[in-house]
Amino acid sequence: MDEKNFDRRSFFRMAVTAAVIVPVALKSIGKAEAAPAASCPTTPPAGKPMAIVGQGMAKGLEYTDDGKSSTNAKHKPGQNCANCKYFNDKKGEGGYAPCTMMGMKWVTNCGWCKSYAAR
Ligand code: SF4
Repeated sequence: MDEKNFDRRSFFRMAVTAAVIVPVALKSIGKAEAAPAASCPTTPPAGKPMAIVGQGMAKGLEYTDDGKSSTNAKHKPGQNCANCKYFNDKKGEGGYAPCTMMGMKWVTNCGWCKSYAAR
């Protein structure tokens, strides 16, 4: 009977430990390399003020519409506008959305700039 109780206790201890460790481990993996945008849009929405690579604020923030091409040392693989906290995707459309750091000019979900901050 004691052995049976021990087995049950061991099982529950392991289950509780796994329930705590697995989500924490997965979360830390997610922070190390955030998920890239599912696909890069190619057609900006009509009539929206777009951030233009190499101009104005986009130039100052070293914005690129393809984050993977950034040569800025701050850029890490997997970082892009889609997983940046300044990307207002709830107000966006077609993979584009206004960016708080760009004065609400629209950027692509595949973009990146040096003001990137993970969500
Ligand atoms: S602040 Fe974030 S959302 Fe805005 S351009 Fe930079 S990386 Fe993209």
